[in-house]
Amino acid sequence: MAKNKENNELMEKIVSLCKRRGFVFPSSEIYGGFSAIYDFGPYGVELSNNIKKEWWKAMVQIREDVVGLDSAIFMHPKIWEASGHVSGFSDPLAECKKCHSRVRVDHLLEEIGINADEKMGLEEINKIFEENKGKIKCPSCGKDEFTDVKKFNLLVKSNLGNFTEDWNKEPIYLRGETCQGIYVNFKNVLDSTRMKIPFGIAQIGKAFRNEITARQFIFRTREFEQMEMQYFTNPDEEMKEYEKLREYRWNFYLSLGIKEENLKWHKHENLVFYAKEAYDIEYNYPFGFSELEGVHARGDYDLTQHSKYSGKDLSYLDQSNNQKYMPHIIESSVGTARTFLAVLCDAYTEEKTGDDTRMVLKIDKKLAPVKIAIFPLLRNKPELVRKAKEVYDNLKSQFMCEFDDNGNIGKRYRRQDEIGTPYCLTVDFDSLEKGDVTIRNRDDMKQERIKIDNLMEYFKDNLS
Ligand code: ATP
Repeated sequence: MAKNKENNELMEKIVSLCKRRGFVFPSSEIYGGFSAIYDFGPYGVELSNNIKKEWWKAMVQIREDVVGLDSAIFMHPKIWEASGHVSGFSDPLAECKKCHSRVRVDHLLEEIGINADEKMGLEEINKIFEENKGKIKCPSCGKDEFTDVKKFNLLVKSNLGNFTEDWNKEPIYLRGETCQGIYVNFKNVLDSTRMKIPFGIAQIGKAFRNEITARQFIFRTREFEQMEMQYFTNPDEEMKEYEKLREYRWNFYLSLGIKEENLKWHKHENLVFYAKEAYDIEYNYPFGFSELEGVHARGDYDLTQHSKYSGKDLSYLDQSNNQKYMPHIIESSVGTARTFLAVLCDAYTEEKTGDDTRMVLKIDKKLAPVKIAIFPLLRNKPELVRKAKEVYDNLKSQFMCEFDDNGNIGKRYRRQDEIGTPYCLTVDFDSLEKGDVTIRNRDDMKQERIKIDNLMEYFKDNLS
């Protein structure tokens, strides 16, 4: 119970830090907000971009066997029929009879220890829900009376290119996942590059889902960004490549400085009919271990379906042995915002310093929104401000820097600690005479003097 309270408090602190320091804002706030949508503020967009940069580097830049793609959000509506989303991309929904809030039944069942996976039919879920009546309470009002469970399709619809009143009959969907854009471009990539199986296609982009419940801050939103890599293999090699990918993805999180004890594998017990194996990497969020990323072996389902629905043969001819087969796919799929939240939770630290408590984000330097904060010791001494501006102008071409002359140095340090800036640099009177500055390290608060002429080299050594 005490642990629960502590975790709730941690979540509240992170949400409040995100708002106060410009990481994350509720969408449309001046209009009262817009449920399950968030905006990323000045530091948030830096952190988010740094996460994506690291992901792209790990998944595309340093891999000879992976290329990138940026497919459009809108696609031919048949794609979503072929993928199974139109008929099957749904969550079980019920409504509380008292407060009318909608609940995700599988999540409520999970809370009382019943695993209601996606394979379970509506009849079965309704039966289990009824049998457990009384044990399941509405998260909003605490009552235990619900309507029957229905399946609710998560695809978000639009009237793109349809100028009639009844566009709803033939909607164009906003993509529910980015990987379909990869599958339908498989042949294009094959024909326009020199890629040979096994190879992967990676993409970062927005996805949209009509999520029934929208709690847990940016963990589950209706508009979100995915970072996905789909790897095409020979059927015989699928599981070998899958094991390699699992290990690679686990190590990626360690490379971001996430503590290994806060990560764990979750194996899917009841697989969808086409899947060979499915694991999620879970992170220990303040609300418990929850899915950060899915690493799945999908067999030949995706390309087979798109071959069938498009009438185009998407099989692959291996020219080395004339073997023709439908490629099998293994995938890595992660939300940028779930990574963002995991990084913040992992880095959030409170330290006692004398009578004071220091709040510091011990975020990996690669991810820090600002790398170097530059201060003149006093703002009313033009010669110090001028010198500090000079240093700032020189460093900003290489590193994300921030100039701050507001408040005393202690306060400026605290502000930078809160956003995880690894280095603070102060220009003082000695700097004018001796040409050196004080550099203060975020984590141990130790200070050292470095010559201005050597700053670029110092930061290249310490930040690259
Ligand atoms: P969940 O079970 O939490 O709803 P999922 O299994 O439906 O997730 P996938 O379809 O496997 O998720 O999507 C891949 C990844 O995309 C997830 O691991 C997660 O990081 C991210 N993701 C999915 N849905 C959302 C969402 N609504 N908001 C933010 N990120 C999401």
